[in-house]
Amino acid sequence: MAGSSHLETLKSTFGYDAFRDGQEDVVRAMIDGDPVLAIMPTGGGKSLCFQLPALVGEGMTVVISPLIALMRDQVRQLRALGVAAAALTSANTPEENEEISQRTRNGEIKLLYIAPERLGAVLTLSLLREGNTRRIAVDEAHCVSQWGHDFRPDYLRIGELQHRLGVPIGAFTATADPETQEEIVARLFNGQVPRRFLHGFDRPNIHLAFAPKHKPRDQILSFAAARKGLSGIVYCGTRAKTETLSKALLDAGHTACFYHGGMEAQTRKSVEERFAHEDGLIVTATVAFGMGVDKPDIRWVAHADLPKSIESYYQEIGRASRDGAPAETLTLFGADDIRLRRTQIDESGAPDARRDADHGRLNALLGLAESVTCRRQNLLGYFGETQISCGNCDLCDRPPNTFLATVEVQKALSAIYRSGEYFGVGHIIDILRGVSSAKIKERGHDALPTFGVGKSVGKTQWENILRQMMGHDLVRPDPTRFGGLRLTDAAIPILKGEQPITLRRYEAKGPSPVTQQARTILSEEDEPLFAALKAERKKLAHAANVPAYIILNDKGLMEMAERRPQTLDDMLSISGIGAKKLESYGQAFLSVITGHSTHTHPTRRKVAVMGKGDLFDALMTAQTDLARGEAGIDKPLSCSNSHIAAIVRTRPQTLAQLEKLIGAKRSDRFGARFLEILGEAS
Ligand code: ADP
Repeated sequence: MAGSSHLETLKSTFGYDAFRDGQEDVVRAMIDGDPVLAIMPTGGGKSLCFQLPALVGEGMTVVISPLIALMRDQVRQLRALGVAAAALTSANTPEENEEISQRTRNGEIKLLYIAPERLGAVLTLSLLREGNTRRIAVDEAHCVSQWGHDFRPDYLRIGELQHRLGVPIGAFTATADPETQEEIVARLFNGQVPRRFLHGFDRPNIHLAFAPKHKPRDQILSFAAARKGLSGIVYCGTRAKTETLSKALLDAGHTACFYHGGMEAQTRKSVEERFAHEDGLIVTATVAFGMGVDKPDIRWVAHADLPKSIESYYQEIGRASRDGAPAETLTLFGADDIRLRRTQIDESGAPDARRDADHGRLNALLGLAESVTCRRQNLLGYFGETQISCGNCDLCDRPPNTFLATVEVQKALSAIYRSGEYFGVGHIIDILRGVSSAKIKERGHDALPTFGVGKSVGKTQWENILRQMMGHDLVRPDPTRFGGLRLTDAAIPILKGEQPITLRRYEAKGPSPVTQQARTILSEEDEPLFAALKAERKKLAHAANVPAYIILNDKGLMEMAERRPQTLDDMLSISGIGAKKLESYGQAFLSVITGHSTHTHPTRRKVAVMGKGDLFDALMTAQTDLARGEAGIDKPLSCSNSHIAAIVRTRPQTLAQLEKLIGAKRSDRFGARFLEILGEAS
């Protein structure tokens, strides 16, 4: 049903021209009233899949969401789009909640967000009935799973609510593992079989990269240095590390703060608020900084330590650039991480089957870390998606150097086996390299046939080989033997010579390709306008007391800077500008673009103080007029505010002098007109 109306709503309300991969099928199923389980990656655009259907047709959609911050953010975004949305939560005053209830009874609300703890109340049920509830949408549906760390006991009431209201459920999550999916179906759908959607797992705008740890602090610092001024998250394995790394980043001149579960709730909240509002803040955090992080313009995510599983990895990096602009990631890993993660699983107290599954998920992540072929294909293959093209991961950027490592691996396996499977990496390498340490002598390991058989291979190279062996799950640390490495079944065919193995050869200290400068997002010509548009957005956000992205996300501003719409009608073609945003902010942005803004750039202010403001304005207007050349058909080109300020200051008299200030291209485009204006002004 509703052939074109959902497409119309996509454009007129949300301001988007097209659905993202996977969204449309879910939207249609929701509109058709089918029970739905949709699994989409973090940042894939899940909320639109229940928000848009809620606006097509009669009645109200109830959204159950685990965190007040998440609800508030979505309601704010919906209101900015002109949608009748509200949230019933304990963060409201009783009067506010009463008013929302009244509007619900009057049928004025299309999307009502409810905190899970309210589900048990008798009043809630009658309110939802009176409000003509047509559908229940469950955001972060994996919170119903008792095994995940996001478990919310109140989510267990949702099945009962569905039963009483008798309306279809749409459940949404980014967690793809089969056990969690089964739990969601069993607990939410009361025996109904939902239509399952598991597509659109690719986030092509996110660059993927891994690197073995080698001075990890420096690796993170240089990654951050190359992205200075851009918002980022550094995930750390421990609370202590969030604090030390945050300090190191501050010392290096970044704006940074830390976040972990051991902090006061109030302090955590203020970090979340700061992160949402500030441009260019770095947060060093444990995984506690998670679900509530909805900021769409986080430009990079780094892992200072290996994440827990392939799912956690994808969720964490998925927080980068939800708005679809380019984003970069770097995940560091080392033998210690592998040992730590294995031990955590072994000591989790979970049933055997769950622990096996957890080891499997960790293996999938390690396979990705040690991959020798495209990371994206490897990653998405895990989520069941094939035929992915990439060109946006470190291995596509630079094919890895590999070697046939069967003999080395056999030697290492043999050293581990013959020393009784009681020792860690360091001691095994000493055996292989024939180092007569006290421990070696004491244990008599210098008498082993494998003693010294790996002399020709350097220590770092052996470390890389052993870590990769752990990554391929050929050996595992055994917690009952103080972490001593033991062979797994997967090692046997290699040891017997029945199966070869290829490993990566890491350059000893080569510069990591991921420390290169962040990919430039805009061309140089568009940067000044983008900066001016951002300044305007900041003003608007400040006036409305909302984070900047609620006004419009970076993707939309970038499109404006590149395409330079000249009328309100043109403005509608910009991503994120629907009817309401056009009405609220269209004119303000348009004024910036057409150069008639009342907003004064700081450079302009400086010049104005010198009494040269008119000349500055005249030059600015001229360059806006000529942005696409005399005939209006050339590639857009502009001068930065500092270019114009330099012209005002030095008053060049010839094209050659002008070219020195603004370069040949700009001098060709604007030179004659600028000299004319300068002539008139003198
Ligand atoms: P998640 O799947 O993590 O819940 P969100 O629903 O927060 O993702 O969506 C991520 C971002 O993508 C939001 O900023 C949203 O506005 C944007 N978005 C969603 N759908 C589209 C679309 N079809 N076109 C452009 N942007 C979209």
